[in-house]
Amino acid sequence: MKAIIKDKPGPGLVLKDVNKAKKLGPREVLVKIRRASICGTDVHIFKWDEWSQSRINPPLIVGHEMAGEVVEVGDAVTQVKVGDFVSAETHIPCEHCVQCKTGRMHVCKNLEILGVDRSGVFTEYAVIPETVLWKFSPEIPLDFASVMEPFGNAIHTALVTDLTGKKVLITGAGPIGLMAIQVAKASGASLVISSEVDPLRIEMAKNNGADIVINPIEQDLVKSIYTISPDGVDVLLEMSGNKKALEDGLKCLTMGGIASLLGIFGGNIDLNLDSLVIMRGITIYGITGRKMFETWKIADELLKSKKVDLSKVVTHVLPFEQWEKGFELMLNKQCGKVVLNFD
Ligand code: NAD
Ligand code: ZN
Repeated sequence: MKAIIKDKPGPGLVLKDVNKAKKLGPREVLVKIRRASICGTDVHIFKWDEWSQSRINPPLIVGHEMAGEVVEVGDAVTQVKVGDFVSAETHIPCEHCVQCKTGRMHVCKNLEILGVDRSGVFTEYAVIPETVLWKFSPEIPLDFASVMEPFGNAIHTALVTDLTGKKVLITGAGPIGLMAIQVAKASGASLVISSEVDPLRIEMAKNNGADIVINPIEQDLVKSIYTISPDGVDVLLEMSGNKKALEDGLKCLTMGGIASLLGIFGGNIDLNLDSLVIMRGITIYGITGRKMFETWKIADELLKSKKVDLSKVVTHVLPFEQWEKGFELMLNKQCGKVVLNFD
């Protein structure tokens, strides 16, 4: 079978023929991949940045966002059957640490990530533990089903608090920020402001329903926010991984406001916590992944009911063979979400 692989340390990826798994473990499932989407993490691995060098052990099949069909199940599998359509939670919990045992599998101590710590999904058939499979509703188009995983990031980050009647600032309108705009709108936020620096994504933020979009390069974000809302915003969703966006975003929060942080900064950043957070009574949530599986249930419902429309986020569905074009689009940020079609 064909697979997109990091075959050796260094930049780039290759498309190669590899052997299909011969024997499944008792709780493993063989999934015929139908769609897979490219995530920023895959781009990090492609580039072979510092993080990938410290984390990835080639050869490795990359990719983790997927939707596909169950074609074979291990002896002890009970949760899915052949023919089921599934997406996958890509954080694989150990199921026996204290977090897993107490209903917090998303912060499992022994977490393994698909396509990072173990063989991924940019291939024709992937082996995935049954624990992480999500049978998505048949109303959800295949092209969007692989995007349920990053969509879950948007949901998990946005819904740390009730957004009804709240003013929300979302810094960064990459694919996840765009989806968060729609989640905030669907949740009854009274005002959704997006900040973004890239022209294409500024347009996409508007198209995804942001009431106001601010480009912090052209306009001072903090001044603009306090002009729009003299009390600041109630909630900050940080989805850029940019230090200045976080710092200004915190300044935009009303006293006692809430910050939910998803963006990855890739190293130390220095902030004046005394004045930005402590003396202003700000609550900060760190978000990793999705809650298993309450986030998935919400994702499913929002897509099934069409409260969120991912056609405004998925800009490209490419045949799998054009994966290089997909990575190029991602590298240049000339896209929303890029989905690879394996059919
Ligand atoms: P992305 O890189 O496509 O989007 C980030 C966006 O922020 C870009 O459009 C960029 O132009 C914009 N940006 C950069 N500087 C800005 C600034 N100063 N102000 C406003 N916008 C600015 O990433 P994505 O896939 O949408 O993911 C969002 C973030 O979440 C990334 O940092 C990613 O690494 C992180 N992430 C975290 C988790 C987690 O579990 N915590 C999971 C997935 C992704
Ligand atoms: Zn665990």
